[in-house]
Amino acid sequence: MIKEKRNKDIKKNNNRKGFQKKEEPVIRFACLGGLEEIGRNMMFFEYENEIIIIDAGLQFPEEETPGIDYIIPNVSYLAERKEKIKAIIITHGHYDHIGAIPYIMQKLGNPLIITTAITKEIIARRQEEFPNTPKLNFDIVKAGDSRKISKNFKAEFFGVTHNIPDGFGTILNTPVGKIVHAGEFKFDYDIKGNPRGLEIWEKLGKEKIHTLLIESTGAEDQGNSISERVVEKEIEKLFKKAPGRIILGTFASLLDRLAEIIKIAERMDKRVAISGSSMKSNIQIARNLGLMKIKKGTLISLDEIRKYNDDKIVILCTGAQGESNASLMKIATGEHRQIKIKKGDSIILSSSIVPGNERSVQILKDDLSRQGALVYHYKMMDIHSSGHAPQEELKTVMKMVKPRFIFPMHGYYFMRWRNAQNAQEALGLKPSETILVDNGQVVLFTKESAKISDEIIPAYYVMVDGLGVGDVGEVVLRDRRMLAQEGMVVIIATLDRRSGRFLKNPDIISRGFIYLRENKEFVEELRKRIKSLVSRNPRHQHIESDYIKSLMRDQIGQFLYNRTKRRPMVLPVIIEV
Ligand SMILES: [Zn+2]
Repeated sequence: MIKEKRNKDIKKNNNRKGFQKKEEPVIRFACLGGLEEIGRNMMFFEYENEIIIIDAGLQFPEEETPGIDYIIPNVSYLAERKEKIKAIIITHGHYDHIGAIPYIMQKLGNPLIITTAITKEIIARRQEEFPNTPKLNFDIVKAGDSRKISKNFKAEFFGVTHNIPDGFGTILNTPVGKIVHAGEFKFDYDIKGNPRGLEIWEKLGKEKIHTLLIESTGAEDQGNSISERVVEKEIEKLFKKAPGRIILGTFASLLDRLAEIIKIAERMDKRVAISGSSMKSNIQIARNLGLMKIKKGTLISLDEIRKYNDDKIVILCTGAQGESNASLMKIATGEHRQIKIKKGDSIILSSSIVPGNERSVQILKDDLSRQGALVYHYKMMDIHSSGHAPQEELKTVMKMVKPRFIFPMHGYYFMRWRNAQNAQEALGLKPSETILVDNGQVVLFTKESAKISDEIIPAYYVMVDGLGVGDVGEVVLRDRRMLAQEGMVVIIATLDRRSGRFLKNPDIISRGFIYLRENKEFVEELRKRIKSLVSRNPRHQHIESDYIKSLMRDQIGQFLYNRTKRRPMVLPVIIEV
C-alpha cells in the first residue's frame, strides 16, 4: 500500500474482518493505561491466537477520587481472551509498571512473567502482601537475552539506564516486523559528560524497525539530563559542609543513587541508618543480588543513632514527596519515634516533585525549616536527576533507530503530542506516522502501515481501595466527593410512634460543614424546620420513618443550600419509640 493513501484508508477499513485479508498479517495493539495519565502502564499485542502483554502498572489517584488507594488498568478484554495470553513482559520494577500484578494475574490466568532479576524480586516481595493470590511464574532474563515466546512472537531484551536498576527495552519480532518498546530510559553520562551505551540504538538503526514505542514523560523538558555523576558530586559537597546530621529523602526505588550516597558516607566515615520499609526492603534486595556492596558496620539501626556524634550520621528516608505516611513527613511533624529534628540537621530532598504533590512538599519544607533544619531541594542545586530522557535525548534515540512509525507512549496527551513533534522534527515524519491514540483505542499494524481503527476496547478506570478491587461504585465515589467538598450533617430525631411527633429537639451533628456552636440561631432555625416536617401531618397518623428520612434529605438539604450555598450530605437517623 502506498503511504499517501493511508489516511483515506483508515475510514474505509474500519471493519476489521473486511480488512484482515489472509495474505496480509495484522497485529492488533492497544494500551489499557498510560496514555492519558502518568502511570497505569499496560499494553498488549494480539495476533491470531496469541497475545503478548507489556507491563501492568498502577496509578496513584489524584484528588477527584477521594479514598482510593490505586487505579489499575481495566483487563476485561484480556480476561475474556486469557487462553491467548502467552506472556507478560515487565520492563522494570517501578509501581507504575508492576503495581497491578497482584490484582489482575488471576483474571488473566496467571501467565508467565518475563523480567529481570531485580524486578522479579520487587514483584515477589510485594506479592507476599497478597497471600491469597496464585504463585507467580517467572522467566528471568538479562540484557542481551532473547526468547521465542510463541509461534509468532520473539522478544529480545536490551539494557537501558533508568532510575531503578535492571530495566530493559524490548525488540518484539512480529509477523509485520520489528516493534521496539524502548522501556523507560535516560542517558548515562561518563565523568567527562559523554553519553554511554548508545551502541544499542545505533544497532537498532540497522534493523529496519517498524515502530518505536518511546516514552513521553520528559518530552516537554528541553536539553539533556543532568548526569548522575553531577548529582553525586553536589550531594557530596552538601555532605562535606553539613554541620550535624544529614537526613536525605528520596524515592525508595532510586537504588543506584542510594548506593552512591552510601559510598560517599563510607568515604567520610559516616554511619547510615534507613527509615522507611520500602527503602529497606529494596536495599536488601539489591544487596542479596550483589548489586549493592556495603561495608560491614556502615549500616546501623535507627536506635543506634544516638550512640554516634551528629556529624557521623546519615539517615536515608522515604517521603520526599510529602506522603503523609512516609518517614520524612513523620519526622517533620514530630511523630517519628526515633528521629526528632534539631538545629543543625541538614535535610536533602533528592527528588523532583511529582505533579500533584506540590502542596504537601511545601508543607514538608516549611515544617522542617521552621524547626531549624537546613533544607536543600532540587531547585536550589543539582541534587536530583529525572529518570526520563528529555527532548534532546529522545530525539537522539529517534534519529539513531530511524523507525517507520513512532508511537509516543507514557504521559498525558499533550506530553505525547509534544513527543510526536520531537519525532517530526528529528525524523521528518508526517503526523500520520506519529501515532497518537487514547487508552483502549486499537491500532492495526501491517507490514507497511500503522492505522488507528475505530474500535475501542474497555479501558476505563478500575479503582482499588482498602476493601478490594473495583468495588468502589459510582455512588460511593460520589459520596466521598460530596463529603470531601461539602461536609456532612447528621440529624438524630426520636419519633413517638403513637403521636407521630418528635419527642424532643432533634440532635444535629456536623462535620466539615459549618461550626454549629458559633451558629446557634441557625441551628435553632434548622431544628424548627425539622420539626415542621412532621407537624403538618395530622396527629396520631402513622408515618413511615423512611418517608421522614427522604423528606429530611430533600427539604433540609434544600434549606441548607438556600442558606449556605453548600450541599452537605444529610444523614437522617430516626429512632422510633
Ligand atoms: Zn520508571
